[in-house]
Amino acid sequence: MIKDIKGLHHITSMASDARQNNTFFTDTLGLRRVKKTVNFDDPNVYHLYYGDEAGTPGTVMTYFPFPDVMRGRKGVGEVSETQFAIPKGSLTFWQDRLSSNAAGNLQADTVFGADRLRFSGPDGEGFALIEAQNDGRKAWIGGGIDESAGIRGFSGATFRLHDIAATSELLAFMGYQRTETDGTVTRFVMPGGNGADVIDLEALPKVPFARQGAGSVHHIAFAVENRAKQLEVRKALMDTGYQVTPVIDRDYFWAIYFRTPGGVLFEIATNEPGFNRDEDTAHLGEVLKLPARYEPYRDQIEAGLTPLAA
Ligand code: ZN
Repeated sequence: MIKDIKGLHHITSMASDARQNNTFFTDTLGLRRVKKTVNFDDPNVYHLYYGDEAGTPGTVMTYFPFPDVMRGRKGVGEVSETQFAIPKGSLTFWQDRLSSNAAGNLQADTVFGADRLRFSGPDGEGFALIEAQNDGRKAWIGGGIDESAGIRGFSGATFRLHDIAATSELLAFMGYQRTETDGTVTRFVMPGGNGADVIDLEALPKVPFARQGAGSVHHIAFAVENRAKQLEVRKALMDTGYQVTPVIDRDYFWAIYFRTPGGVLFEIATNEPGFNRDEDTAHLGEVLKLPARYEPYRDQIEAGLTPLAA
């Protein structure tokens, strides 16, 4: 069994409009934009990162905004909901804020004993705010939402699957513990994780597969401390039969990827070097950062990207 995974690192989704996406995450949700860069495989598209002050692993929601891409079709084989942790007692604040900011499908309920507010993002993506009892993580308050309500980071994520058996086995191998089942949803928790510790598996045997597009999660990344641990995890996964990519340099972390039996693309990402690798923590996310290989084409790349609101 793997012992080095510490919960989630980041979740990466697709959006149809960079400006709208940026406004929703920085204004409505009050997260900090911690990096403005491009998709390293397609530099004509932004890669935007939103999180806490430093972009701590377990807080980072990232987006590839592909202008005018078709909306995804929801289904199985994907991450269906991204869960954020909010302080106890702040659900009403969020209900008011989201209903006056055009977030769709607001629905409050209770899950696994915690109060939850579900809603849709600008591209229809599934989100939930979950009141957390003892979350010691600090909110980013520079976005105008104070400590009493600010998002702490991810609580976790929900996957929709035809069958949860193979993914359950994989999560157990990755160090997750199976806890409770509530209806069609089975919960897994990472003991000693970074706070973004929950994976919920929802079994929907009759629902068709999802089709990726705007609002779909592209992949979900799990955190390891450093490159040495990442190589150990890679070997353990390959020894178990997973086809894992070589280590890829993403400038702010090192990444490996593999497709899971239920269809969800997993990444294992390092906590090092972090988002202050190429700019001061005080000014994260302000200017466009490019990987070295695209620096010679900066003018051309910048001219093709929609300016974001300040
Ligand atoms: Zn990633």
